[in-house]
Amino acid sequence: MRRLITLLTALFVLASGAIITSTAAHAETYPQLERRIERNYGVPVNWVTRTPCGTTRGDGFWACYTRHYVWSKTKRDWVLKGEINVAGSRATANRYPTMARTVLYHELGHHKSYRKCPNGFSTRGRNKEAVTTAYAVLYTRLTAHDARTWLNSASGRYYTSADLRVAKKIHARNCF
Ligand SMILES: [Zn+2]
Repeated sequence: MRRLITLLTALFVLASGAIITSTAAHAETYPQLERRIERNYGVPVNWVTRTPCGTTRGDGFWACYTRHYVWSKTKRDWVLKGEINVAGSRATANRYPTMARTVLYHELGHHKSYRKCPNGFSTRGRNKEAVTTAYAVLYTRLTAHDARTWLNSASGRYYTSADLRVAKKIHARNCF
């Protein structure tokens, strides 16, 4: 039995022509990251057409995270599950691996922050997407450089030091 709790959407648009390659020596390839997310977090990465999480999107590279809870007999509690839907193709992801990694890390930021605060959390008045990006920068391998390059600041997804502070509270399970 599973129930859909909420839908979190994220938008990442492929900037025309502005392709930045990661300089991080440890950077894993996009397929490696996708497999690691599925293996380590049990979060499947689903490829869809242009309707990630049921919302029709235009051109670009879009991803969203959906969280739901599954009853665990052994834990006798609801366990957070989640899935990531990506609109686009693996061919696109392979062509723009840094952008693709940035998208997945942001969505993983959603998942990891809800693992810390399964009942939700306050963003202390900050934009939730920006807090999520801050969380991903702090607690996944998303770099500040990639976040700046690929996340759309106009949509509130870029983060400030205030967002970093909120992300740290969430990580400390200081949820509200
Ligand atoms: Zn998001």
